[in-house]
Amino acid sequence: MPDLSAALPPESPPQAEGERYMALALEQARLAWTEGEVPVGAVVVKDGEVIAAGYNQPIGRHDPTAHAEVMALRAAAAKLGNYRLPGCELYVTLEPCIMCSGAMMHARLARVVYAAVDPKTGAAGSVLNLFEQDKLNHHTQVVGGVMAPEASALLKAFFAERRAAARKLPVAEPAPESDAKPVSAQA
Ligand SMILES: [Zn+2]
Repeated sequence: MPDLSAALPPESPPQAEGERYMALALEQARLAWTEGEVPVGAVVVKDGEVIAAGYNQPIGRHDPTAHAEVMALRAAAAKLGNYRLPGCELYVTLEPCIMCSGAMMHARLARVVYAAVDPKTGAAGSVLNLFEQDKLNHHTQVVGGVMAPEASALLKAFFAERRAAARKLPVAEPAPESDAKPVSAQA
């Protein structure tokens, strides 16, 4: 019997179920905020069960790869004892970047579901779409827009608070005038 699965449209989880997982990802995002990190959160789901979670923490960990998705993928892989995560779904509050999209493809994740779009670094349709590159990706489906208003509101509130905090910083004292002659650049 021929395999017709490739010709079928990707199945979407029931909306309520998707929103339940995304709500958990949003809880993770709030944890990031409490640590002063941009609030992005993720959970990994397998067979309807949340098996791992992660939130954005590159500043605190001094780790440029510590995005929410990577943290969640690492936790899921450790839990399953497998560097590949077939049959798993990842819910993330912001469209994944190039790095995270690549990591998901390496993990052979079945599906990624994201909330808000990221017009600056999104690699699932905004800046580019790595997931539709057939030469790169045969495993991971992508769905966007689940609870996007909630995720966008959280990010906007975070950046508004950060701007307000920056305005309240005391103005630095001007450096005292110096009589020293400027050092010539010429030898
Ligand atoms: Zn990322």
